[in-house]
Amino acid sequence: MRMKTCSRCDSSLDDEARYCVECGAPQTEDAAEELDDYVQRQAQQVAADSGDAGGGGGHAGSGGDGSGYVSTEELTDREQLWRRGCYVLGYGTIVVALTLVPQIGSFPLILGGIAILPPIRRLTSEPLGSPLKREVMAGLYAVFALLGVALLVLL
Ligand SMILES: [Zn+2]
Repeated sequence: MRMKTCSRCDSSLDDEARYCVECGAPQTEDAAEELDDYVQRQAQQVAADSGDAGGGGGHAGSGGDGSGYVSTEELTDREQLWRRGCYVLGYGTIVVALTLVPQIGSFPLILGGIAILPPIRRLTSEPLGSPLKREVMAGLYAVFALLGVALLVLL
């Protein structure tokens, strides 16, 4: 078996290797192109995801520092699911609350709906250093929702 070394980290690689087993650097033109395609597709998906949420605030400049780092925000499936759930719940609550708007109880509902939206959680990371826990946002939502419902029922 012939060997070559990785152009980036100098690991010994099988001559046929398309990617470095140590650092993941592509070793052939084809592999480099494939990786480019993959990164682009991922970026488009991320853009589409945050795009259909509407008004989340533009972020994610595609940093081309050549380090080959794919994404700053690797989301696990669970995280994705959680985000979807938050969007659905948040927007659902806001839409329902808007139909109740002259009533005072609709306002806490709107606030709760906004609080649980994932972009809001990201905003909290600015002054606090790290984002508030998901549980905190869910708790906020619960408090506002209960308050809103209580006001709607009582008034
Ligand atoms: Zn390498």
